[in-house]
Amino acid sequence: MRREEQEALDAAVLKKAGEETEAVCGCAHRSSGKKTGHGSVETDLHKKSAETNENEPDDDDEDEMEPKQKLVQILVSAALLIAAAAIDHMNPGFPMWARFLIYLVPYLVAGFDVLKEAGESIGNGEIFNEDFLMCIATIGALLIGFVPGGKEQFAEAVFVMLFFQVGELFEGIAEGNSSRAISQMLDIRPDTANLEKNGEIVVVSPGDVAVGDTIVIRPGEKVPMDGVILEGTSSLDTVALTGESVPRDVKAGDPILSGCVNQSGVLRVKVEKAFGESTASKILELVQNAGASKSKSEKFISRFAKVYTPIVVFAAVVLAFVPPLFTGNFGTNFATWLLRALTFLIVSCPCALVVSVPLSFFGGIGSASKNGVLIKGSSFIDALAKADTVVFDKTGTLTKGVFEVTALHPDKLDEHELLHLAAHVERYSTHPIAVSLRTAFGHEDDGCSVEHVEEVAGQGIRAVVNGKTVCVGNTKMMDAVGAKWKSCDEPGTIIHVSIDGVYAGHIHISDVEKPDAKKAIEGLKAEGVRRTVMLTGDREAVAQRVAKDIGIDEYHAELLPADKVSQVEQLMKKKRSGGTLVFVGDGINDAPVLARADVGIAMGAMGSDAAIEAADVVLMDDQPSKIARAVRIARRTLRISKQNIVFAIAVKVAILVLAAAGLAPMWLAVFGDTGVLIICVLNSTRTLRAGI
Ligand code: ADP
Ligand code: MG
Repeated sequence: MRREEQEALDAAVLKKAGEETEAVCGCAHRSSGKKTGHGSVETDLHKKSAETNENEPDDDDEDEMEPKQKLVQILVSAALLIAAAAIDHMNPGFPMWARFLIYLVPYLVAGFDVLKEAGESIGNGEIFNEDFLMCIATIGALLIGFVPGGKEQFAEAVFVMLFFQVGELFEGIAEGNSSRAISQMLDIRPDTANLEKNGEIVVVSPGDVAVGDTIVIRPGEKVPMDGVILEGTSSLDTVALTGESVPRDVKAGDPILSGCVNQSGVLRVKVEKAFGESTASKILELVQNAGASKSKSEKFISRFAKVYTPIVVFAAVVLAFVPPLFTGNFGTNFATWLLRALTFLIVSCPCALVVSVPLSFFGGIGSASKNGVLIKGSSFIDALAKADTVVFDKTGTLTKGVFEVTALHPDKLDEHELLHLAAHVERYSTHPIAVSLRTAFGHEDDGCSVEHVEEVAGQGIRAVVNGKTVCVGNTKMMDAVGAKWKSCDEPGTIIHVSIDGVYAGHIHISDVEKPDAKKAIEGLKAEGVRRTVMLTGDREAVAQRVAKDIGIDEYHAELLPADKVSQVEQLMKKKRSGGTLVFVGDGINDAPVLARADVGIAMGAMGSDAAIEAADVVLMDDQPSKIARAVRIARRTLRISKQNIVFAIAVKVAILVLAAAGLAPMWLAVFGDTGVLIICVLNSTRTLRAGI
């Protein structure tokens, strides 16, 4: 895919995410990308990709106000408010309309953009947003002095608007921080590639480089696409991909992933994946789509806001008109009840929730990504936080998946020939066993013919090598072709080989457990995960040893991929109600299980592309212990967003009752709205912290 196309696609994806948000949310904070602080993370990302695309007109920009500008606006209007109050104080004889005009100046400076925004949204037919609420409330407060029996509220009106803007400022800064953390991941997208063409180096857009081309990466540059190093040594900074800033040393022959930063030497790299298919692009796609799957609390809040705001407006109208009708003299009582209704309107704005809850989830995703864990949407934060059963695949997940040949036990042929046949049959397989056998044999290109390769998931592989049908796999495979296999008591995985249905011997290979596998299980237990299970297609003996070593509760061995699915189905039935089942795999033949589980976690560095796509969460550095950390981050995120919901609703209800009873002065209403918003926003930024 060419770069422009990719960018257009990104922009479209982001726009879609933004539209979805707009569709479900009645509040301007989410539905408008035009004002300061109103740019949701999606819109900011949208902007980022639109910036680099000169052809796309971006008419949102003219309305944008940076936090700095907002601060200036707030300071200027605050100064004007003080001046107005001083003039007012020194001239007690001024008529009402003159005082109105004096306060109108700071009011307009503070609120011109809110007024404009409210006007525009009325034009678009969506009235029930918080700009509208604010405008009604403040204009009402400005005018109430003119109502017979009303006490003027000029300074209060300006103050309400001013403080509302302070809230916007805070929100803008907090959202900026979250989106910056996520954009740090966006920075992994390189802008150029140095293509080697006829011995010369030309700088081109990464989208123009083809698979098979050679590119040169100089120190300090980002790796633009996935490939293999032809020449040079260097150390790579993989922090953007893994969250870990330990440099990784690479040399000729090593694979190299896009998104890393080349630190020391010049590298010549043969491109193996097109730009759009490379790791960096894939990750970006995932991150950008993350906004689309909403958590339960986010959905609840948007639904809540949609119903709640019209109800509140209706209640305020009732409050203003009905009680004065029943309390005798309408003319004198109306002003009092109108003021109560206005106060009511200000407090009732649901923006604290509408803003802070999605913000905490974005923070949670950001914090996880700082730890090298990619969460594809906030709904998976919900699910991770409720993890009850965690099921692991063995090979490549709990073990490194790098097998070493420990013994060769041939039957009727020599050791070299046994390994030779096995390595050839495995020529095209990506299974970790295949890779290891090929590596152990070494020289593969010896002119032998390998045809009709057929991989049987969970059993092994068969192919015709130099005219003979050779099968390589476990005992199930041998039984399937009728070869009389011999058992062996040595520990480790045993790979049997048959030639034309006749047993030819076996190869012992052994894998090592990942150093943090034990820690992963301990961490999950500490988080209250009730049950940990290992599923494997490998032998019972190997499974038992690994399970015992790392302290896993339960294991099931010698499973075919379909058996893994049915095991997971059964475990799903046994989980605690309300709890979730998490499956962790490398995706080599476990993509169906990844998709079936409540949360599918895939190994990012070693896992297959299919797995990374099927998964909901990707561990960039393949360390299973990161799962416990992701659960902790998810729980913290949920805890913080719950705190916000409870706090905001409690404070608002209390002030609403006081306002209806006429006991809440306007400044208390402002606290109930903007004060609560600021506290909730500040609280939700705690989710972004990396350390946990
Ligand atoms: P796990 O469940 O541990 O990830 P798999 O389901 O991938 O393991 O494989 C199960 C068993 O099937 C392996 O232990 C091996 O005996 C056999 N097997 C699968 N694929 C191959 C292959 N490409 N070559 C040889 N044996 C294989
Ligand atoms: Mg596997």
